[in-house]
Amino acid sequence: MKSLRARISENILAPSQLSSKQLLDMLTPAGRSSELRRHAASVIVARVQLIAGLFAILVPFFAIIDLVVFDLATAGKLIGLRLASTAIFAALAWPREASLTRPYAQALAALLVLLLVPSLFHLLSADMLAQASQTSAQKLVAQLYAYLPTIVLGGLAIFPLTALEALLFALPVIGMGLAGLILGGTAPDLAQYGGTLWFMLMMLGVAMFSGMSQCHYMATLVVRAMHDPLTGAYTRRSGEDALKLLFRLNHMAGKPLTLAFVDLDRFKEINDLFGHEAGDQCLCLFADNLRAGLRRSDLLIRWGGEEFVAVLPDTPLDKVPLLLLRLRQQGLGQRPDGRQMTASFGIACSDENGIAACETLVWRADRRMYEAKRQGRDAVVWPDGSCQSLKPTDATTSTAG
Ligand code: GH3
Ligand code: MG
Ligand code: MG
Repeated sequence: MKSLRARISENILAPSQLSSKQLLDMLTPAGRSSELRRHAASVIVARVQLIAGLFAILVPFFAIIDLVVFDLATAGKLIGLRLASTAIFAALAWPREASLTRPYAQALAALLVLLLVPSLFHLLSADMLAQASQTSAQKLVAQLYAYLPTIVLGGLAIFPLTALEALLFALPVIGMGLAGLILGGTAPDLAQYGGTLWFMLMMLGVAMFSGMSQCHYMATLVVRAMHDPLTGAYTRRSGEDALKLLFRLNHMAGKPLTLAFVDLDRFKEINDLFGHEAGDQCLCLFADNLRAGLRRSDLLIRWGGEEFVAVLPDTPLDKVPLLLLRLRQQGLGQRPDGRQMTASFGIACSDENGIAACETLVWRADRRMYEAKRQGRDAVVWPDGSCQSLKPTDATTSTAG
């Protein structure tokens, strides 16, 4: 008999079983990776722009209803509010470059503005509409405008927000919805206030459910699209994008970015002697050990076959020897014949002369890795051309030609 949690997570929120981490990731954005944040930000911004664009076109048209239903003075004030709202919606819909450093905060700020505008419209017009509503038609239109905060809460459903985010966004909207009732002169009536609150909470519940589900699908797709299924490292394509971004960010911050091009030594031999399956296992182990030696902020990219690129942001060259020695000492994994796997490393740093683009950085690290192969493997070639053996008993350094 499956647990209730397993049944909810398997059948309702997602088609496959959820781990605790995945479930937590639906509740709060705290543990999200930077690539997932960036992706979520681009989805949120695209949807904010779409909705804001639609509203910028539709909102002025409702001025016709204001003019037909209300007296001129009330209609004039409502149209004033409409024009202000339209200007804000148009500004939100306007295409702009995503922030390099804080794209997610920028996306959430845009979403908050989008949600607050209709709620503020309701708040600022509630008193005026209550005064001006005498006929049934006027009361009907005022009633429809009073639904704006509830509609906004339902609208949250189209954004991939975690439960905590949806709740935080909903609080000011709910607050303005209830304040609108007070300003509109609704007497303190449990049925009226309780009914409105209940309706808003129902909308929020639906929106939360939809947002959490979207978060999960997005996270699954992003991880699948960006990571190599065999080793879990970034794929070449997603890795190149991430490298370009990190290169720009480090350049802007005046920080050095170091790159290590790594190629597993004599890997073909493992395939030839022990089979492809054993080769795959060695490759996985090799990638796991490389990753274990890196920091959380570093990236491991599978550049192709048994070649990897380790990207070390904010890392000067003098920090790298320690990293390599640590990697080598902890071991890169055992081959099926019991020997240790070894690798050849080529290092390049953005501090070097003549590095204006990350492609040059990769190219230089690649050339140096080949030089390390030529010099006997299990070695590293540094930007000054020197080759250092990584064999634990061998601490020789030679200068490459
Ligand atoms: P060197 O020390 O010069 O790098 O020798 P090497 O044998 O590692 O290099 P070579 O380029 O001759 O061979 C790389 C091999 O890696 C050839 C290819 O079949 C194998 N390979 C590439 N991708 C995979 C993979 O995903 N799984 C397995 N099992 N083998 C792979
Ligand atoms: Mg190799
Ligand atoms: Mg190779």
